[in-house]
Amino acid sequence: MAGVSVPLVPLVNQKTVTKETLLESQQQLELSISEITPLIEQQQEAYQQLIAKLPLKTEKELTFSVPEQFQGKTIYQVGLNSKDKIVALTFDDGPWPKTTNEVLYILKKHNIKATFFVLGTNVKNYSGRLKQIVEHGHAIGNHSWSHPYSYQNPSAAALEIDRTEDLLYKISGVKTSLFRPPGGFLNNGLAAYARKTNHAVVLWSSDSRDYYTSEQKLLNNVLKQAQSGGIILLHDGGGDRSKTVRALPTMITELKQRGYKFVTVPELLEIAVTAQ
Ligand SMILES: [Zn+2]
Repeated sequence: MAGVSVPLVPLVNQKTVTKETLLESQQQLELSISEITPLIEQQQEAYQQLIAKLPLKTEKELTFSVPEQFQGKTIYQVGLNSKDKIVALTFDDGPWPKTTNEVLYILKKHNIKATFFVLGTNVKNYSGRLKQIVEHGHAIGNHSWSHPYSYQNPSAAALEIDRTEDLLYKISGVKTSLFRPPGGFLNNGLAAYARKTNHAVVLWSSDSRDYYTSEQKLLNNVLKQAQSGGIILLHDGGGDRSKTVRALPTMITELKQRGYKFVTVPELLEIAVTAQ
């Protein structure tokens, strides 16, 4: 390419930019957004109507309980024979616009069920997306109402967990005994309340670190730490999760090639009980 000069920025519009042309393009942009928004809303509405027509899930399908031996316990992974290559993918901090749907699409394409640890505030704001997760047959866990890291006294901790559970039930009929403490903190009052109320406090054995690292590194983190009975931490909400979405198909394909099967956290706990 020696001697050829390629402009780094494509010259999309060679017109001289004046106040008028700027105003004109701004008006065009506003017009296109105002045209697109109702279409997106119509699509969401159509989806909700479709969900409303589907047969209702049974109470059993909507209840994510925990075997007795795991109630009130903290779980990082379960002990399985290394031949039993089973892992659980978990997604935190949703439901979230766009990325939750993208994750659902990828999981469906690969015929995989995962576990979503949702926040009460996001369930409130994006209730339609919660229904979509449930409709796809994934397991739901409680990740608190507002994701606090600071110390919560017993009544504040109870409110964080119970308020989320009440809303989950009201919106989707889901009951869950799985709790994941925000930031994995075990000493700020939330995990103590969850244990006291017989939840399983679910942490992880494999941290993708997708909240700050690159697509390639998050993928390597997961693949390097994958093990039988492992629980993998990923995020579908709480910020820009496009790297997680981009890494997910390769992650699944690579783990499948290594012989892993994917289950939800409640299924993983049941398998651990039966394996004993
Ligand atoms: Zn979180």
